[in-house]
Amino acid sequence: MLLTKVLRSGVQAGLRFQGTSAQASAKVAAATSKPSHGGFSFELTDQQKEFQELARKFAREEIVPAAPGYDKSGEYPFPLIKRAWELGLMNGHIPEDCGGMGLGIFDACLITEELAYGCTGVQTAIEANSLGQMPVIIAGNDAQKKKYLGRMTEEPLMCAYCVTEPGAGSDVAGIMTRAVRKGDDYVINGQKMWITNGGKANWYFLLARTEADPKYPASKAFTGFIVDADTPGLQPGRKEINMGQRCSDTRGITFEDVVIPKENVLIGEGAGFKIAMGAFDKTRPPVAAGATGLAQRALDEATKYALERKTFGRLIAEHQAVSFILAEMAMKVELARMAYQRSAWEVDMGQRNTYYASIAKAFAGDIANQCASDAVQVFGGNGFNSEYPVEKLMRDAKIYQIYEGTAQIQRLIISREHFAKYKQ
Ligand SMILES: Cc1cc2nc3c(=O)[nH]c(=O)nc-3n(C[C@H](O)[C@H](O)[C@H](O)COP(=O)(O)OP(=O)(O)OC[C@H]3O[C@@H](n4cnc5c(N)ncnc54)[C@H](O)[C@@H]3O)c2cc1C
Repeated sequence: MLLTKVLRSGVQAGLRFQGTSAQASAKVAAATSKPSHGGFSFELTDQQKEFQELARKFAREEIVPAAPGYDKSGEYPFPLIKRAWELGLMNGHIPEDCGGMGLGIFDACLITEELAYGCTGVQTAIEANSLGQMPVIIAGNDAQKKKYLGRMTEEPLMCAYCVTEPGAGSDVAGIMTRAVRKGDDYVINGQKMWITNGGKANWYFLLARTEADPKYPASKAFTGFIVDADTPGLQPGRKEINMGQRCSDTRGITFEDVVIPKENVLIGEGAGFKIAMGAFDKTRPPVAAGATGLAQRALDEATKYALERKTFGRLIAEHQAVSFILAEMAMKVELARMAYQRSAWEVDMGQRNTYYASIAKAFAGDIANQCASDAVQVFGGNGFNSEYPVEKLMRDAKIYQIYEGTAQIQRLIISREHFAKYKQ
């Protein structure tokens, strides 16, 4: 458990960005092994480098060789998840008083990028735990945190974030699942869709409508619940067969007269929408980090190939047209990394990061797709074939423009945040 020890030693974001509050600067300086020179620093702490290296080693030695098999079979990669759990490479942000490491989002992102390099199907399965846990971390009371987060530090359990429905994804306020209060319980009826870890979760974060009046403001009409997976009436559907990230477990879930005690309500009735949306400020930076990991993999694979493959008597890397494709890919990877790190750093400093999180998620999602497609191009005919690694990357990349807010929804958020600056 090398990493657990490393991370427990109080590592926080090593990156420093200018313009922080004095308190935030002090916090960062205290956590950084080298003296501050002011201004920007892109240097990670020694500890951060150490756990990044551990995640990199695990991804390259254990995930990369296993990934094509999981892609073909669609089997859930539980042996890899168990191994990641043993190494301390998942659930890092569970608070220390619940038995976790209490990591910041920045540190978690560094790990996520490395895992995604190995296989984004595996990374999504692991990341869905963070998404499911985040509402409990930000809004759970002590008893809820100890009970539901604590158990995940004791064994490799999964959880899920259960919000989207067949009729409503982007328009979260359009969800129809109903929760009706009956004495000390709530009775849930409805249908969820596209839930990652849907058939593997030990418990779910569930968003349901508690206010019958459709005109009631979304900010008060929904309630967030924690639901044990073995609650009678909760039925996961079949595993969906998706274009990419095929080993990740995506399912619909039916709720039929599912009884949940009021102790499992987060904060209180009507608080659910803000909790569900608030989680994204902390989970979009890691999604962007995952997309960056995939883009880096595409760049590495394409570069290695371009330095081996010859046409017209020279390496294809020596054709300027190919070298420029690789240069463009490198530019995009570097900028996506900076974007996710900025958004993660902002939220770790306690600053509102909605704008940066959406920029990072939108940009990294787009460039993952562009880089994967470019990698296929560099591979020529071989790129189109499943014996080579890049066609999987192209299939896997697409979801980064869809889940956790589509590319269009991110742009809506960015423009809203942008205009708000002009109205102050
Ligand atoms: C593999 C996978 C895993 C997922 N995991 C989870 C999970 O764990 N938990 C969960 O709750 N959900 C999950 N989702 C759901 C995912 O978040 C939604 O699919 C996504 O938010 C889009 O919603 P939708 O599919 O209903 O598309 P729609 O909302 O119907 O959108 C369709 C299209 O219209 C565009 N659009 C919609 N509204 C606007 C607008 N106002 N302006 C401009 N364009 C717009 C969208 O960008 C999109 O291109 C997952 C989905 C997939 C495919």
